[in-house]
Amino acid sequence: MAVPFRRTSKTAKRKRRSHLRLSVPGMVVCPNCGEMKLAHRVCKECGHYAGRVVLVAKEDEVIED
Ligand SMILES: [Zn+2]
Repeated sequence: MAVPFRRTSKTAKRKRRSHLRLSVPGMVVCPNCGEMKLAHRVCKECGHYAGRVVLVAKEDEVIED
């Protein structure tokens, strides 16, 4: 319920906000290339998942000048 600003004590406000925080995403080291990747996701660096290649790495784009 909405309550005037000064009716909520600093302690009550801080206790309420004690549950507000960012969570860290579950990161693991890729067993193939050693990069950090999200758990249970395909590795962005080497395209491996569950010990095999499931994504073909994109070729580096050639910059024409
Ligand atoms: Zn990898």
